[in-house]
Amino acid sequence: MNWIKRFMTGRYGGDQLSIFLLVLSMIITLIGRLTNVVVISFLSYVPIFMALFRMFSKDINKRRMENYKFAIFISPIYSKLKKLEGRLKGRKTHRYYKCPNCNNSLRVPKGKGKILITCPNCKEKFTKKV
Ligand SMILES: [Zn+2]
Repeated sequence: MNWIKRFMTGRYGGDQLSIFLLVLSMIITLIGRLTNVVVISFLSYVPIFMALFRMFSKDINKRRMENYKFAIFISPIYSKLKKLEGRLKGRKTHRYYKCPNCNNSLRVPKGKGKILITCPNCKEKFTKKV
């Protein structure tokens, strides 16, 4: 295992973008298998080679910058997924509404009957049956 250590010295290694590329490649491979289109299967090699190139790259600053840009690009998607996850977890105890005035997302407890909801953002009041 020493030769790997020696080989990887001064090289960038793995990061989130590399993992994403590998997962992307697996998804493309799967699609290629399901659709039986050779071009799609061939395309799955592109992200793998990009990931390998990035891992073995010695231009660490450039790779870091790429990963940083990727993180900025992915963060709104990630936060939306996190929000959705929270909603799924709380769907038995809470209901979610959008404020009719400012579109703010509101969480109210379930099973309280007809309630008056006040938006904490714009103080808009509306009634809902929960
Ligand atoms: Zn509001």
